[in-house]
Amino acid sequence: MNRFRRHVGVHVEKARAQAALQRAERLPLEAIGREGGAVALADRFGEQALAHELGHVLGLGHETRGCSLMNPVATPEGPALCPQAKPWQWRCRMLTSDDVTGAVALYGGTARPPSGARDCNLYAGIRAPTGVEVRATSETHGYQISFRRPAPIPVPAFLSSRRAEPESFVTAVTSGRCATDPHAFGRLAWNVKPGEPQLERVRLEPGTYCVAVWAVDSFTRPSPQPARLWIRIV
Ligand SMILES: [Zn+2]
Repeated sequence: MNRFRRHVGVHVEKARAQAALQRAERLPLEAIGREGGAVALADRFGEQALAHELGHVLGLGHETRGCSLMNPVATPEGPALCPQAKPWQWRCRMLTSDDVTGAVALYGGTARPPSGARDCNLYAGIRAPTGVEVRATSETHGYQISFRRPAPIPVPAFLSSRRAEPESFVTAVTSGRCATDPHAFGRLAWNVKPGEPQLERVRLEPGTYCVAVWAVDSFTRPSPQPARLWIRIV
């Protein structure tokens, strides 16, 4: 919060703004109103940029030391110095305590404590696969995992235009405990249609294992939970 440094307008070159957006998805918020800003306004920068500018209208200056809507630079996932939302989320609670403290310092009054989620999902996540089964094969230590591919999920065009891949899945077979991070394992492309069972072959020594299977949408967002199955190989 910097309530005494009145903002007078920082302008960035159109080319620089566009390059920043394409390179790292970071954009000086004052690009609003320029052509580069128009590109940004097409997606999740829009609300952030408008709320930031309204902060200036109220008399708030830039904050460069900590998380604030008044950070001069933002990504689609939030002001640059704030904890970032997931790529498939937007900042549905714009104001930080710093912004509110600044406005109260200027205008007086008291503020209600923040309520509601800070980050909201932009679209429904893909469901986990269903019907996980493990069967022994004729090979020594050979097993076949099967699970049903879920219905596809439409990803909003403004997201999928940046990172469109075929839907995929992640299978993690871990000893003793269930895997919780799908990003720690490789993604594989489905070779079946939605609703059909996918088959995977694995080799397993005797032991107790957790089989966890995530579906991953075309924006590489995994299902919120995996399908899980505990198995005991003797
Ligand atoms: Zn600003």
